[in-house]
Amino acid sequence: MIRNILKKGIFAKTSRDILNSKVETIRNLLEDTDVIPTNYRGSVIFTKPVEQSATEGIAAALTDVCATKALSIKATPEETCITLDRSKCILCGRCRETAPDLIVIGNKFNPPVKSKPEMIVSSTAQAQLAQKSVEETRIELKTRLQRTLGRSLAVREVDSGSCNGCEVEVTALNNPYYDIERFGIYFVASPRHADVLLVTGPSSRNMEIALQRTYKATPEPKIVIAVGTCACSGGIFGDTYATTGGIDKVVPVDVYVSGCPPRPQALLSGLLLAVDKLPSKAQSRIDKEKK
Ligand code: SF4
Ligand code: SF4
Repeated sequence: MIRNILKKGIFAKTSRDILNSKVETIRNLLEDTDVIPTNYRGSVIFTKPVEQSATEGIAAALTDVCATKALSIKATPEETCITLDRSKCILCGRCRETAPDLIVIGNKFNPPVKSKPEMIVSSTAQAQLAQKSVEETRIELKTRLQRTLGRSLAVREVDSGSCNGCEVEVTALNNPYYDIERFGIYFVASPRHADVLLVTGPSSRNMEIALQRTYKATPEPKIVIAVGTCACSGGIFGDTYATTGGIDKVVPVDVYVSGCPPRPQALLSGLLLAVDKLPSKAQSRIDKEKK
């Protein structure tokens, strides 16, 4: 069979097709490893403030096309603007098609946050997406881990009903490029050994009890990171008879990492926030035990 394939020149044809595809991912494998492809969908960005008179028509069209209701209109006595809830955005790009003058899809990922309200941005005052390089994030992560914990960080991944897209990105954290184990971050097989729970998926009803039990089995102080739009808000699955509409309906969440799926770099930033939160959680546990 292999001889037949070789005879037909399938390998040669495939290689030729790949070389001729003109799709460029990384120009120089050794130098450009931190470059995010320009067509990567990382975040929805408002390009300009929307004039009040124009807001209603545009907002109606945008809220119509946005399947997850991430876009909505906010009217206050001071201003009327369009708001974007990043926890709900699945980066489908339909808003961009509807209002190309107002919206672009940028390749910078949404920054992870510690609370859900921080994920809501308005068309008049959108926060700039400052982004550290992978190398900077890795160095910071290593330094903070050593300073805060003085030891390694154990992570347990829980799939609460995801499409597997987020898992692919979580798995990439262990590949030779991200290689998070060299900073002392390990994926463990049991929640009893974990400091951090990395949860993907909207939490299906079938996984609700399993997630609660996993949370209870994790020793204090523990941090829960919601990974992906589904875990943050239900995402494309929403809140239905079969899904809970976000893992914070099931367990307390400390860090939200939006994106569909979030790239490994965003997960590293989420872990940075988790490391920041651990000491205060440990202190509140000590205070509780003293009472
Ligand atoms: S990219 Fe899709 S989900 Fe996100 S705001 Fe635009 S239409 Fe809504
Ligand atoms: S956030 Fe997107 S990639 Fe992740 S589980 Fe949900 S649909 Fe899949």
